[in-house]
Amino acid sequence: MAILVTGGAGYIGSHTILALLEQHHDVVVLDNLVNASDIALQRVEKITGRNINFYHGDINERSDLQKLFSQNNISAVIHFAGLKSVGESVKKPIEYYKNNVSGTLVLLDEMRRAQVKKFIFSSSATVYGTPESVPLRETSRIGGTTNPYGTSKLMVEQILQDFAHAQPEFAITILRYFNPVGAHESGLVGEDPGGIPNNLMPYISQVASGKLQQLAIFGDDYPTIDGTGVRDYIHVMDLAEGHLKALEQIHKQQGIKTYNLGSGVGYSVLQMLKAFEKASGRSVPYKIMPRRDGDIAECWADAQLAKEELGWTAQRDLDDMMRDTWNWQKKNPAGFQP
Ligand code: NAD
Ligand code: UDP
Repeated sequence: MAILVTGGAGYIGSHTILALLEQHHDVVVLDNLVNASDIALQRVEKITGRNINFYHGDINERSDLQKLFSQNNISAVIHFAGLKSVGESVKKPIEYYKNNVSGTLVLLDEMRRAQVKKFIFSSSATVYGTPESVPLRETSRIGGTTNPYGTSKLMVEQILQDFAHAQPEFAITILRYFNPVGAHESGLVGEDPGGIPNNLMPYISQVASGKLQQLAIFGDDYPTIDGTGVRDYIHVMDLAEGHLKALEQIHKQQGIKTYNLGSGVGYSVLQMLKAFEKASGRSVPYKIMPRRDGDIAECWADAQLAKEELGWTAQRDLDDMMRDTWNWQKKNPAGFQP
């Protein structure tokens, strides 16, 4: 039996397959490489000494899925594939709904046809919109998303609720990630955003390496500890291990479950910057700029439910996140480009 990982060549997917292979699972990856490199998969094979059964294909293509399901004995699907840039989603809503919503529908339909009944979905804290209060619990109000990316995650969550109701023999786990950062400790795999990064950590590390000139901090007038935005950053290997725990549980689970995967602690942009400077020994010049459209002041998880039901908590702290981010950046200044 193997685990199908869609989007397994991407940032979170590659770290998760690494953890799966180390735990002796067999892994099949489906990825169209629209935002990833197959070098990531080769590196994972190198670290683990295991083979990945890779299909270069698309979740929207029924024939790709049918081939894969007929050639492998798949016990569960971990579904990372999708597009993830908030800004790009505003400019290309059709592409975002097609990949993230329609693609998931095709995948679920083909899973039903192939009688594969365990599904773990990558959702996001973005489904909470503007929080009424923090920390965010799984029962907190969802909705009020401000861009097609966020809305696509919300729509899939809703579809999964309806699907689970209609197909009680399916077990479905929705994982709402907070802010994934860091890299595998080997420095062989990590986040390779391509172009100018949108997210804070890759931006900071590229300034530190001299690739970018200075960080723009989007707003210092939020009602937070120092005026800059606060988020719940989680080490990508902790996140990967969260998927392993979800997978263990899904074999005993009935119906649909939703979990926050966050550390439960919030850090401001300035706190992140200072921690990175300490870990890297580099200074990161910055300037304060106006707030970015659609940003919220603060957001962090109540991660209690994942602890109680999955036996999972984040193990790595801020220093680990910064050390591993810098290690990856130093060793791979051009990402996965040779
Ligand atoms: P990523 O872009 O690195 O990985 C996504 C992978 O999916 C890529 O390898 C890409 O090539 C592949 N892909 C995209 N469309 C595809 C398609 N139609 N068919 C096959 N493969 C396709 O992103 P990531 O950061 O690893 O995120 C993984 C998942 O987690 C995504 O669904 C994302 O929305 C979600 N998520 C990410 C974050 C984050 O901050 N990184 C936060 C919350 C949720
Ligand atoms: N941020 C910033 N400058 C950047 C990128 C991000 O000040 O170049 C801030 C952003 O306003 C937010 C935090 O860093 O407060 C995290 O942003 P990111 O885009 O990484 O994640 P988000 O939580 O927005 O998905």
